[in-house]
Amino acid sequence: MEELLEKILAACEPFVRQGKLADYIPELTKADPNDLGICIQSSDGRMRHAGDYHKCFTIQSIVKPILLLQALMDNGIASVRQKVGVEATGKPFDGINYTEQALLSDHINPMVNMGAIAICTMIQGRTYQEKFQRLLSLTKRLACNPDLSVNEAVYLSEKRTGNKNRALAYLLKTYGMIEDDVEQVLDCYFRACSIQVNCSDLANIGFTLANHGRLPISGERIFPSEYGSYVNAILMTCGMYDGSGEFAVNVGVPAKSGVGGGIMAVVPTRMGIGIFSPALDEKGNSVAGIQVLKQLSQKLYLSIF
Ligand code: GLN
Repeated sequence: MEELLEKILAACEPFVRQGKLADYIPELTKADPNDLGICIQSSDGRMRHAGDYHKCFTIQSIVKPILLLQALMDNGIASVRQKVGVEATGKPFDGINYTEQALLSDHINPMVNMGAIAICTMIQGRTYQEKFQRLLSLTKRLACNPDLSVNEAVYLSEKRTGNKNRALAYLLKTYGMIEDDVEQVLDCYFRACSIQVNCSDLANIGFTLANHGRLPISGERIFPSEYGSYVNAILMTCGMYDGSGEFAVNVGVPAKSGVGGGIMAVVPTRMGIGIFSPALDEKGNSVAGIQVLKQLSQKLYLSIF
C-alpha cells in the first residue's frame, strides 16, 4: 500500500504547478505550494502515509463537518435541520444563495460559510469561548490527537481581513437567522478554521465518519450512527462546494476540502484519508489532492456508486 501511495504521489506531483495558494487570508501565502502528502487510516487499524504527511496546516473548511457534528450532538437532527438546510448550493464556499428578497434556512448549507457561521450559534456553551473549547475538544477526540491547537497567526490574519464572512454573518443577522453578537460568532468561526492539523489527524477524523462514530483502534463510539449518515450525505453533495458533482463522478466518496490545502475523504466502513497540498484550483480545492484521490479511487475501487 505504501508503495502504491508513493507511486500515486509521484504521478500527481506535477499538478501542484496548476494551483495557487489561497491569498485572501494573507498568512496562508507562507505555505510551500510544492507540498504533497497523504495518510490513510484503514479498518485493519494501520495508518499508512507518504510524502509531506507530517506537515501542519490549518483545517479551514474541514472543520465544517465537525461543527455540524457538535451541533447535532448538542441539539439533535430536527433542530439543526430547522435552522440550516441540506440542499447543495452549487455555489462557491463564500457565495450567497439569496432569492426573492429573502434568505431562508433552506438557502444555506452547513458545508459553506454562511451555514457554518449559523451552526456556530448552535453549539452549547455559556460564552463563545466555551463553545469554541467544546468544538476543539471534539476535534481532538476525532483526530485522536490531544495536542491540537489554534494557529494564532492564521486566526488573526483571517479575523483582520475576513470582511466577506463578516458580510455573510450580518446578512444572517438581518434575516433573524442568528441572534448573537456577530463579532463573537465570527470569532468562534475564525478560530475553528485556524485549528492546526496534519494528514493523520484528517485520516482519523475521516475514519470515524466512515465508521459512523467509531474511533480507530479503540472502536469507541463517540456519536450516534445517524449523525454520521447525516454529515456524510451532506459531504457527498456539498463537501467540495461547486466542484462536488465533478468530484462525485471522478472519486465518488464523501469528502471535505479546505483552503489550507487539506482534503479529508470518507470511504464508508473502509478508511479515512487525509491529504495536504496547498496549491488550489479556482474553487478553493487542492488540485493535486483531487488528482491523488481520483487515482486512489480507481486503483482501490473506492467509489460508492
Ligand atoms: N476560513 C475560510 C473562509 O471562511 C474557510 C474557507 C475554505 O476553507 N474553503 O473563507
